[in-house]
Amino acid sequence: MGQSYNVAVIGAGTAGLVTARELQREGHRVTVFEKANQVGGTWLYDSLVESDLLGLDPNREIVHSSLYKSLRTNLPRQVMSFLDYPFVKRESGDTRPFPGHEEVLRFLQDFARDFGLMELVRFGHEVIRVELVDEVSHEWVVESRTRETESRWESKEEVFEAVVICNGKNTEPKVAEFPGRDTWPGLQMHSHNYRTPEQFENKIVVLIGNGPSATDILREISPLAKQVHLAFRGSDIKLINLKNYDNAWPHSPIECAHEDGKVVFQDGSIVEADVIIHCTGYKFHLPFLKSNGIVTVDDNRVGPLYKHIFPPSLAPWLSFVGLNYRALVFRVIELQAIWVAKVLSGKVKLPTQEAMAASVEEFYEQMEKAGWPKYHTHSLQNDEGEYASWLAAQSDIRPPKSWEEITFFSFVKGIFGHGENFRDTWDVDKWIQEIESSD
Ligand code: FAD
Repeated sequence: MGQSYNVAVIGAGTAGLVTARELQREGHRVTVFEKANQVGGTWLYDSLVESDLLGLDPNREIVHSSLYKSLRTNLPRQVMSFLDYPFVKRESGDTRPFPGHEEVLRFLQDFARDFGLMELVRFGHEVIRVELVDEVSHEWVVESRTRETESRWESKEEVFEAVVICNGKNTEPKVAEFPGRDTWPGLQMHSHNYRTPEQFENKIVVLIGNGPSATDILREISPLAKQVHLAFRGSDIKLINLKNYDNAWPHSPIECAHEDGKVVFQDGSIVEADVIIHCTGYKFHLPFLKSNGIVTVDDNRVGPLYKHIFPPSLAPWLSFVGLNYRALVFRVIELQAIWVAKVLSGKVKLPTQEAMAASVEEFYEQMEKAGWPKYHTHSLQNDEGEYASWLAAQSDIRPPKSWEEITFFSFVKGIFGHGENFRDTWDVDKWIQEIESSD
């Protein structure tokens, strides 16, 4: 056993649970703070929506999960497995390769129970402040609050030697900006607050975006809605074939919206719509982190972070697990959590603070040279395989070589090849076996 520390983990979603397991395996003392009353994070479906459907009001009551009722995974269960804990089909469960969200929640609940993690979680504890109070002894204050009555909260401060932030990235909506947005008279919402299609019956709906949420919602509302208009950048929508929908049309992004209800697109087309749904993604949100400006969120870049995890000057006492997207998230989270736990126990060494800072600078420069906007900092679109292999090597784990090939983007390509019913038509087992046998 290496060094053992008193570690706070914020969040009991996938990242928090896996991190807690790894920290415990390394002999650390772990407390997980979770504002909900159950584990699961995003996978804990909530039929409630927020009072401000666009999510612009900072004082709104936050609903954490963005799942819609009918959501099925867009990645197969094989890659939502953990190294020694596969997401297997259970006779009594949803055995589909791309199961409904309830099945993922059950998997995470089983995971938490089987590894004795439930006892580590303080449910109903929302963290409102994480602050470094002593740099030398690396003492962090974690202040959390619990709801005593509808209007009364009780808060408490505790001291930890290390903090791992796993608070999720799919809760704070990012919305489209266009002139007239705030005075347009129709209903506007972010996909974060979409649950079921009924309210769109006979409505003319504009959906902004062409990612998985926009296309899933289009598919679900088009049988009920009068018309659906998809506004997006670029010329291609690959996740859906609009020719199969006789009441849906593609458009360029919205140019402006008028007080008479008209929505004008950049291609000059105009529709008089009832509803605009922004399927435009999310922002990182760390309202509780007081780091004296060391860690900031700038245009969706959380930084500076060495390998998306450690702020060089606060490492290893502060870390982040689960910031990446456009990746096989479960896998990446697990590798990150293993690395964090081993770095803390001293089994794996980090480079010097200067070397980590230089590595972050080099990464930012590379992004700039490649013309990548800041807000893509944590996207693994281009280097997931390489990043996963690097993380695995740090912790001396040897995943199958096929992992370099089986990435989020290889799945996206597979989805394009199988059309919009990919969840039911694609034999993923066969596809994975073929890749593995060609190792
Ligand atoms: P979360 O699951 O969001 O968990 C964060 C936890 O932190 C929550 O429990 C929250 O309550 C808690 N928390 C937050 N702030 C505080 C605080 N201040 N104090 C205490 N607790 C706090 N991934 C896939 O692999 N496959 C898919 O098919 C897939 N589909 C998706 C579909 C949608 C619509 C969305 C939004 C995401 C999807 N994802 C999918 C990505 C998904 O985000 C990840 O699978 C995973 O849930 C991320 O886990 P996490 O622990 O990082 O965050």
